[in-house]
Amino acid sequence: MFGKTRGSSSFFESCGKMLLSVPERVPVFFETRLELTNPPANGIMPKVTTHKERSSPMNWKNHYRKALTFSYDDGNEQDRKLLEILNRYGMKATFNVNTGLNHDCGTWVYRNVLEVHRLNLAECSELYAGHEMAVHGVYHYNLTELTPEECTAELQDNIAAITEIYGAVPVGMAYPYGVFNDAVVEELRRLGIGYGRGTESSHCFAEQEDLLRFRPTCHHDDEALFSLAEQFLQAEAETPQIFYIWGHSYEFEGNRNWDRLERLCEMLAGRDDIFYGTNREVLLPDWAVQTK
Ligand SMILES: [Zn+2]
Repeated sequence: MFGKTRGSSSFFESCGKMLLSVPERVPVFFETRLELTNPPANGIMPKVTTHKERSSPMNWKNHYRKALTFSYDDGNEQDRKLLEILNRYGMKATFNVNTGLNHDCGTWVYRNVLEVHRLNLAECSELYAGHEMAVHGVYHYNLTELTPEECTAELQDNIAAITEIYGAVPVGMAYPYGVFNDAVVEELRRLGIGYGRGTESSHCFAEQEDLLRFRPTCHHDDEALFSLAEQFLQAEAETPQIFYIWGHSYEFEGNRNWDRLERLCEMLAGRDDIFYGTNREVLLPDWAVQTK
């Protein structure tokens, strides 16, 4: 089943277990509240924007040569701690969520050490305030294994639910299991999605032409993470440089390496020459976001 996937096999195996417990498709409707409730304790204020402000065209490339952005998938309990750390350092991220899974369904065990629970997204729209919410499929299906009709429903219903919960139409996507094909990419384009992230590392910071087949710089557990961070800090490029880091927050908990994120943020935070933005702000800086 996972023959076409790339990246960590243990993650895919675990997700395979998760897929056994997905429920039937159900419509999801939630309230929208967007205030930031937990100001940072150390005085470094995150750049908080409302969904409405995000619509204004602010192209970071007019003011910066470097941008840093994070991308985290699946919407699970460890996002709370991840967000506490990112907010404390003024970092911005995009969260790719499955709106058909919640605390009681989609639970699985990561590397035999951690039971991973989804968040009830309806109850935590505030949690993600100031960050971007993006598409990851309603039920985390491998999109390349669905019929065209199923693929459309898996994406369209996810877009509708994210819009309902967070008040803005999502413009980005992380492919479940990192897999896609030309038909999936074309469907995303048809549905108005502007970028789609895979899991294959680029290990570089150059801008990419094909944003619907976007390659992240690296996963946060990549052994090159800190040397890439050093390289990014030292870069004196004439062209825009994008450092794009992705992962799952439960990996920090399961691998007991939250200090890795703290160290990375300490290295990269508070720099005048770096723009800290969501995936959308970094990859699609002129895109006007449609609000609900
Ligand atoms: Zn995922």
